[in-house]
Amino acid sequence: MNDKNQSTDTETDNSISPAKALFYGDIVKPLFWTFPESSPETEEMLQMVLDSVDRFLEGREDEFRKWDEAGAQPDEFVQDLRELGLFGLIIPEEYGGIGLSNSAYSRVLQQCSRYDSSVSLTIGAHSSIGMKGVLLFGTDAQKEKYLPELATGDRIAAFCLTEAGSGSDAASIKANAVRKPGGGWTLNGEKIWITNGGIANFFTVFARTDGDAGKLSAFIVERDFEGVSSGPKENKLGIRASSTTTVNFADVDIPEENLLGDEGKGFRIAMAILNNGRTGLGGGSVGGMKTCIALAAKQAKERKQFGQSIADFGLIKQKISDMTVDCFAAESVVRMVGHYIDSGHTDYSVEAAISKVFASEAMFRAADESLQIAAGNGYMKEFPYEQILRDARILTIFEGTSEILRLFIALSGMKGPGMLLRDLQSATDDIFNSPIKGFGLLSDYAGRKITQITSLGNERIVGAVSDDLRDDALIFEKYSLELARMTDVLLRRHGKAIANKQFALKRIADVVIDLFVGLSVLSRVSSMDADDSDQHQQAVAIAHLFSQKAKRRMNRNLRAMLRNEDAAAKALADSVFEAESYLWDVL
Ligand SMILES: Cc1cc2nc3c(=O)[nH]c(=O)nc-3n(C[C@H](O)[C@H](O)[C@H](O)COP(=O)(O)OP(=O)(O)OC[C@H]3O[C@@H](n4cnc5c(N)ncnc54)[C@H](O)[C@@H]3O)c2cc1C
Repeated sequence: MNDKNQSTDTETDNSISPAKALFYGDIVKPLFWTFPESSPETEEMLQMVLDSVDRFLEGREDEFRKWDEAGAQPDEFVQDLRELGLFGLIIPEEYGGIGLSNSAYSRVLQQCSRYDSSVSLTIGAHSSIGMKGVLLFGTDAQKEKYLPELATGDRIAAFCLTEAGSGSDAASIKANAVRKPGGGWTLNGEKIWITNGGIANFFTVFARTDGDAGKLSAFIVERDFEGVSSGPKENKLGIRASSTTTVNFADVDIPEENLLGDEGKGFRIAMAILNNGRTGLGGGSVGGMKTCIALAAKQAKERKQFGQSIADFGLIKQKISDMTVDCFAAESVVRMVGHYIDSGHTDYSVEAAISKVFASEAMFRAADESLQIAAGNGYMKEFPYEQILRDARILTIFEGTSEILRLFIALSGMKGPGMLLRDLQSATDDIFNSPIKGFGLLSDYAGRKITQITSLGNERIVGAVSDDLRDDALIFEKYSLELARMTDVLLRRHGKAIANKQFALKRIADVVIDLFVGLSVLSRVSSMDADDSDQHQQAVAIAHLFSQKAKRRMNRNLRAMLRNEDAAAKALADSVFEAESYLWDVL
């Protein structure tokens, strides 16, 4: 077996996934060092877009609040978004867009989210997922026909996957497209909770094309096609001004040329779009965190209790410090993933999932803690905190829940080592029939074991970081090897049944998240000018804080793998499920 993700430090192959390599104990140095930088031309273009976003959104808090209460953005505002070119951010210039890279686009969404999440979402649902399929899988004719109007916003896009019976289990959708004898399809089905559902006139729709248990395909559907309709706006907890509706397809005729990508590849297309779009959501989360930090810092300094500013209290300082470390870490990992996508990496799905889980959860923590700092004021509608908290709640739900993404991260990462073990098993069974294959596998496996047992891999990245980050690098060296050891233990113990060991998979995912995010932080800080400026010293301090906290979390997760209360927790949950209530009322 030759898995690309078993790598050496010298490989820079674009098909290597640095996160999957961690499951072998490998830190693929060239994929972490050096931290990505934009070209001066990109920076100049990006700065222009950011400035125009600032000019457009600054000082409009009252309007955003009004639209939150009304549950919609006015048509004139959407028209302004069009005129600013915000629907064409990632569309190549030849089709009338701005042609931003994935990283630059994510940075623009970050800027929008500093002001209002619903604004980000209207733009993000269009670009990150609604029309992304045309860029990734569209034919030349589809690009020519749709991209110019998608760039101007004359067409606003939505991504239609979820159905009433099919959320996380996206492969179980029931919408169906039946082939017509003369060519084309007839589409039927209802999609729910579709962002931009009420304002979009371009839909990327996923439907079953091959019987009940058969394959999915993706289609481009225009609102003007007969039989397309959307329901009333949903009344939501947060991101209320963003349009969310059902979208219904009743006997809609879909022309042959509106199949997106290959027939039967719809599931793969949906996942590819979502993976590619995750940096948009990650960028938005980072923007929200920056707002929370600024609001909370100002509030804490101004608010006096016990005769002093609450900013003087340790527990408030701890919150501000945690939010700042989280934000720096989320920014680092989102930037790293954007760079992988921009530089043509083909296997970044695990990294993208890690960035989404980390950034979205960090954003929710920041929203919660900034509200806690503002306390009673934070709870009141005249302050921005409660809306930020409500808006942030969706981030760990849509575009893949945190639970599903953690399972995906762990299982995708364990797949390679699992196949190696399986091949090893069959090689040892078959060693006399196929000695060459068997010995190759055995010696490869033995080499890896020696690395894991003796930690010979140490010193692999310490050389790449500045002296002041040496101890931090050693932490990630050590725990990448621990991860590989634990992966091996779990695979030997459970074999394929590991797929159902969710407590263990969550712990594995959390270790990988800490490793990958931590390495992104080290890479970023190492790439800064190692001078004595306050900013550099503070960045080093952030790296230390992240590394030490990550070390404690990784240690706890790995120890709990062998000694835990999982069986008792499951049994307790089962008894509550049976009673459907809490069983221990006290009178
Ligand atoms: C405001 C909003 C906007 C949205 N926009 C869009 C959009 O534009 N396009 C679109 O297609 N969809 C959209 N969605 C749908 C969204 O992607 C789904 O809500 C999401 O995928 C989760 O599906 P679900 O809500 O049905 O939860 P379920 O899948 O029913 O999950 C319920 C809970 O069970 C957990 N769970 C599920 N399966 C497992 C498992 N195997 N193991 C462990 N835990 C599990 C989940 O993590 C979750 O906590 C939107 C949703 C909302 C609320």
